[in-house]
Amino acid sequence: MPDLDFILDRDALAHAVELMVGGGSCAEPSASLPVSLPETGIGGRAALDLLAPSVLGGASRLGDAGAMAHMDPPTPWITWATTLWNASLNQNLLHPATAPVARDVEKRVIGWLAPYFGMDGGHMVPGSTIANLTALWAARERARVEEVVYAETAHLSVSKAAHLLGLRARPLPCDREGALRSDALPADLGRSALVLTAGTTSTGAVDDLSLIGCAAWTHVDAAWAGPLRLSRVYAPGLAGLERADSIAISAHKWLFQPKESALVLFRDATLAHEAISFGGAYLATPNVGVLGSHGAVAVPLLATLLAWGREGLAARIERCMAIAGELAMLIADDDRLELLLPPRTGVVVWRPTNIEKTESLHAALPPESTSITTLADGKWLRNVVANPNVDMAGVATALTHGLRSL
Ligand SMILES: *Cc1c(COP(=O)(O)O)cnc(C)c1O
Repeated sequence: MPDLDFILDRDALAHAVELMVGGGSCAEPSASLPVSLPETGIGGRAALDLLAPSVLGGASRLGDAGAMAHMDPPTPWITWATTLWNASLNQNLLHPATAPVARDVEKRVIGWLAPYFGMDGGHMVPGSTIANLTALWAARERARVEEVVYAETAHLSVSKAAHLLGLRARPLPCDREGALRSDALPADLGRSALVLTAGTTSTGAVDDLSLIGCAAWTHVDAAWAGPLRLSRVYAPGLAGLERADSIAISAHKWLFQPKESALVLFRDATLAHEAISFGGAYLATPNVGVLGSHGAVAVPLLATLLAWGREGLAARIERCMAIAGELAMLIADDDRLELLLPPRTGVVVWRPTNIEKTESLHAALPPESTSITTLADGKWLRNVVANPNVDMAGVATALTHGLRSL
């Protein structure tokens, strides 16, 4: 008699979907959960009912009309369905025998996307933190670099990677908007990996991509803004990216994927992968990169690209860009507010002209709408439009209310 918990229970699964659609009844935190590991289980269905109020009801809703505080997008339902497939199959791309199809799916997805970035291959990783580490590891092996040079506004994962790899970390000054000051670049980059950011986390700034190629290795951290290359309207804003040696892109940001999903791409993936491969007695094929066991995160991404096509994906990203543009205009037109810079990558940074009021204005706005970021000259408010369902009319009303309460 097989253990039925490893076999489909259609009713319980349908119930799980109902709970998900219902969104959980209340935001009650996990007070109802046992404090220590229960000795006796309550069964799958009861576990669902116990968890739904907090796990579903207590979660923020990234697709809500006002949600635009962070780089986390809502995910399309096709990714929910395919993630469920993944969980049920539990393939491991480390072993071709357990993932005969999933390995091909990942190759296919990389093959579809890499040409938009001028790259010839790569692999999937759980986030751009790991993508940046992997790329700089390849830089150390392939180009013998000894230091990592980057703008001080680069994501903390860049200095983290330098630290892990035993490379000297060399942060450089930026302009007011957060882009690397080219005049600050050292003259000799023959032993350096230069990291440029396409869409900084704080302000969405894009470093001067014409600097690509002036170091022994150039890596572009395009974690946030990379997907703009799939839009014919916005791709020219990232011109030059195709000359990089490696690129990081977080698919769980502007490719609308569930976490944890990202890509590390290489201009010459064969050589890069060789440099970061290890064999092992029990492995049929070499293990490439940082991860050991590795799930089929390519499946939801492939499904999304199939469902939407390039056009459908670009339309969602362009919608986000249009919302960011409208919001920036609203701010620029209000003499009580200051816009840091016109948004190039869907990130809008602004504050009241009376900067003493920055934090109270933040507190007066809906929490899912706005985050705070600290730049060299103090605190600013920040919106990141990763959500194509933002309703500008509602946002404008919330802003008016917030300003009135100051
Ligand atoms: C989000 C981000 C990262 C880190 O990516 P994760 O996917 O969160 O690991 C790196 N660089 C930039 C510019 C980012 O915005």
